[in-house]
Parts: sequence; structure tokens; C-alpha cells
Amino acid sequence: MKIPLFRPYSSSSLPMEIKRVIESGHWTGGREVSEVENILAETFNFPNFTCTSSATSAFEILIDTFYPDSKVNIVVPVNTFAATAEVPRRLGHKVIFCDVDVKTGMIDIASLKLILNSHKVDCVIPVSIGGHLYDREKLKELKQSYGFDIIEDLAQLIYKDCFDHFVDAAFFSFYPNKILSSPDGGGFVLSDESKLEDLRKVRLHGIKRISPIEYDIECLGRKANMTDLSAVILKDQIYALDEKIKRRQSRVVRYQNLLKDIPQISCLYHSENIISSLFVIHAENRKELQIHLADNGVQTSIHFKPLHLHSYWKKDELVFSGAESYYSTSLSLPFYETLEDNEISYIVELIAKFYSN
Ligand SMILES: *Cc1c(COP(=O)(O)O)cnc(C)c1O
Repeated sequence: MKIPLFRPYSSSSLPMEIKRVIESGHWTGGREVSEVENILAETFNFPNFTCTSSATSAFEILIDTFYPDSKVNIVVPVNTFAATAEVPRRLGHKVIFCDVDVKTGMIDIASLKLILNSHKVDCVIPVSIGGHLYDREKLKELKQSYGFDIIEDLAQLIYKDCFDHFVDAAFFSFYPNKILSSPDGGGFVLSDESKLEDLRKVRLHGIKRISPIEYDIECLGRKANMTDLSAVILKDQIYALDEKIKRRQSRVVRYQNLLKDIPQISCLYHSENIISSLFVIHAENRKELQIHLADNGVQTSIHFKPLHLHSYWKKDELVFSGAESYYSTSLSLPFYETLEDNEISYIVELIAKFYSN
């Protein structure tokens, strides 16, 4: 049996919708993008939503406009995807890595406090792993004492009421393997709406249309707009959201029930209030288990290999024991809406067999 790590979900009406957009001739810059922005705002109770070409480009726009003039200090948890640290570093800011919790892989508040007491910190970028929320309440308390901005990397998280007005901004991903998929896409939500028009301008070359026949370039922008084709696929995903949530939850429950008898495995707690985007386990002999699963056709992944262990970032020679411990035991199993019961049984049987040998 061959089981991929992820497969995107689509409804039976999607091909017709894509055909409609293709035949309309408005492949980008059409009505679909603003329509899906409104649907996102309504569905998830966001105060506003701006779609972009990816989470990475949404993050670039946020950093561009939050810190246009001076170099600032930005804290990034070391257990994250490349983009979370790459964007601030590429835009000339100082990235300060922070350790993470050994169980959840998300920002460790005690480690953050040590950084706050020894550095001037302008911004913290907490990251969701697997759709779980980091310790937002503690971070909000620290924001009140230390006065930094919070820009959330919610590439792996989305659910109704997930945005908190105390947070300055959050960015989301609609990459195929996220909760809501498109060929590529992302977006952001902003708490201070007075900046919204400026940020939307940056999304498309800093252009403002002043009449049907003329436009003005008002600031230095980017090419970061979402296409109408991505928007129509995203819309299909949002319409299927209830079904997607139901399917994800039932797969979480099945995994948990079958895995609970294997003492070498522990599963993370999955709250009913969130939508899981990954199914992460902690496993003894994780490396060998991963090879065993791959040899039997089951694709897995790790979220993530901590950034300080990658060649580019290694030169700072830093040690983060929480992230390294998380990395040595964590494993993301195949997880998607169309994963079948017998496929989950097959995966769990392979894991049980691995430990019984
Ligand atoms: C996927 C991911 C991103 C990047 O998303 P894109 O839409 O591909 O730019 C950033 N951060 C995290 C934590 C992610 O998982």
C-alpha cells in the first residue's frame, strides 16, 4: 500500500467552477479574489482579510509596512518553516531564535522571557504547529509589559474566531498541504485597520488606480497578488469546510484510538475547538520508525528540523535543547480528509510491528 503524507480535497463542482473562471478571461485581477476575501472574513469572523500569493508574501508585506525605515529585532521560534526567519532576515532585520516546548514544538514562554530580559525586542512571531494555538494568553501578558508587536505565523492554523484583536497581525497559508488549499496562496489579517489600504497597495506594485484610465505608483510595492484561479479553488474549500472538519476530526479520533495501546508512542492532545492540520506523534526510535514506514510505502514528515540545524543558520552555533528534543521524537503521519480507515489501520499496524520486533 502506498500512502502519501497529504492529498488536497476538492468538491465535485470544482472542475466546473475552474472552467467558468477560465472562460471568463479574468484569470487574475478579477472579482473572485475580493469575493473570497469577504467569504473568509465572514466564515472565520476576521475583522478584515487580504489575500496574497502565499503566506510568505503576506509576511513580507507585513514586515515591509510595519518596519519600513529601521532595522529591528525580531524573535522567531527555532522550530518553524524556512519562511518565518527568511523574511525578516532578507528584509535586513535581526532574527533572534527562541526555544520551543518539547511536546508542542511551539514557542516556549520561559525561553522568550530570558530573551526579553537581555535584548530589546521589537516583534515576536509565534508559530502554530499542526493547527494548535501557542500560549497566546502568556504572550499577551508579556506584550503588555515589554511592548513588542505580535505577528502570528498561522500558516498551519485557521478556525472561527481564531483572530485576537490584541495581536497586531496574523498571516495564513493556502498552500496545497494546509487546512484550506489552493495551488498557492495566502493572506493576512490586521488589527489596526488604518494601515489596511497601504498594505493592500504594496500587494500589487504600490499602485493606486485614480481613474478608469490612469494609475499612480504611491509606494514601493511587490508582486504578491492572488490569482482568480487560486481564489475559486479556495472558495470551493471554504464551502466544503464543515465536511472537511468532520473528516479531519474522525481521522484524529481513529488514530488516537488505535495508537493508545502502543506505549512507545504518545499523541498530542487535539482540542475540539481547533482544526488539526497535522497529526503529530512523539515516537521512540523515531528515525528508524520513519525509515520502516517509508520502506512500506507510508510517507511521513517532521515539522520541523529546527532552523539552527540547517547549513545556512548553523554558523551561529546555537543550541536549543527543547527544539532538538522535539525534533528527535516527533513525526507527522499521513493526514488528510480522504485518508481511509483501512489506511490508518495499516499505518498503525506497521508501527505496532516495528516495536514488537
Ligand atoms: C507552510 C508554512 C509557511 C509558508 O507558507 P507559504 O504559503 O508556502 O508561503 C510558513 N510558515 C509555516 C509554519 C508553514 O507551515
